[in-house]
Amino acid sequence: MKILVINCGSSSLKFQLIDSESEQVICKGLCERIGIDGSRIVYTPEGKDKITVETPMPDHNKAIELVIEALTNKENGVVASLDEIGAVGHRIVHGGEKFTESVVINDEVIKAIEDVSDLAPLHNPANLIGIKACMNAMPGVPMVAVFDTAFHQTMPENAYLYGLHYSYYEKYGIRRYGFHGTSHSYVSKRAAEILGKDIKDLKLIVCHLGNGASVSAVKGGKCIDTSMGLTPLEGLIMGTRTGDIDPSVVEFIMKKENLSVAEVNNILNKKSGVFGLSNELSSDFRDLEDGYLSGNEGAKRAVDTFAYRVVKYIGAYTAAMGGVDAICFTAGVGENSGFTRKIIIDGLGFIGASLNEEANTVRGKEEIISNPDSKVTLMVVPTNEELAIARDTYALCK
Ligand code: AMP
Repeated sequence: MKILVINCGSSSLKFQLIDSESEQVICKGLCERIGIDGSRIVYTPEGKDKITVETPMPDHNKAIELVIEALTNKENGVVASLDEIGAVGHRIVHGGEKFTESVVINDEVIKAIEDVSDLAPLHNPANLIGIKACMNAMPGVPMVAVFDTAFHQTMPENAYLYGLHYSYYEKYGIRRYGFHGTSHSYVSKRAAEILGKDIKDLKLIVCHLGNGASVSAVKGGKCIDTSMGLTPLEGLIMGTRTGDIDPSVVEFIMKKENLSVAEVNNILNKKSGVFGLSNELSSDFRDLEDGYLSGNEGAKRAVDTFAYRVVKYIGAYTAAMGGVDAICFTAGVGENSGFTRKIIIDGLGFIGASLNEEANTVRGKEEIISNPDSKVTLMVVPTNEELAIARDTYALCK
């Protein structure tokens, strides 16, 4: 069965067409600047060069129309007709407490996603627009919702509750939810396969280090804690997000700079993280790595502070699980930056981690990067959220 995977943002839409049997990507692409001037679709059919079409895209319905045209057009299309697409899998950011696994989308599911939209006001409405646009364009094709939060729903109460008055949890569901769940789930399962062990017998820490970054503790295949919280702002220092800070900072900056809550929120999400720490040198670790090596103080400060936070979380999750068998690095930085991995792993001597520096030069492929005598296995496991979404979609629609 061919599965279309859709990841819809407010002004972008990423897609992949995946063959569920071979698990090959038949076509992948991106619609950019939806609803903004200068919109375009960029896609790569399997075995062909990248194709870019600049064309107006006033809304997501038009974007989906262009995706379908890209998949079916006579010249470069990869399917003869839409009938070849068996199901659509949608990435949904927030499933609240309602969704503990992927589900086939019906009216009730749409209503439930709408109901938790205030927990992810930037993401869930965009995800819903993507679902509705696909339903219009492909009536009768089953659609599946795969939630970023679902994998983390196994966290125990003591991990997901904040030290807030309990009534806020009861009234509004204020608690830790966690994100990147599809990635943490995929990487932990893949790590167990690589290690040749039953995941039920493993204590794993997954470090998803990309532009957004989070860590999770996966014990016996179940998430028992994760660093992102009510929103994806908590936890690690990220590309432009603060991660953990004292909440009083918000009021303090508001008063000092005469800013509104929304303005401070924008600072915390868009102007902070390694971008802010490096004095706006860059949010991209490739630039920071270059800066670090050429003696730029801001780059050094940013990367060292980022790495220290990762080390602290690994320490905390080792304690939470009563030990750790393997630490997995994934996502843009985790998969590609041996430089940043080394700085992190240098801080893990306390659990007997020993890095194989030659293996650590690996980029973007599965590799064990610890020495044989390391007390904890260190590994690079590239994530594949689209494949995980396609697998869940196929499982529910076959
Ligand atoms: P992601 O959000 O998972 O797509 O990760 C994107 C981030 O990964 C980029 O902003 C870079 O900071 C980082 N990244 C990608 N490739 C490399 C690389 N070769 N070396 C260091 N960092 C990289």
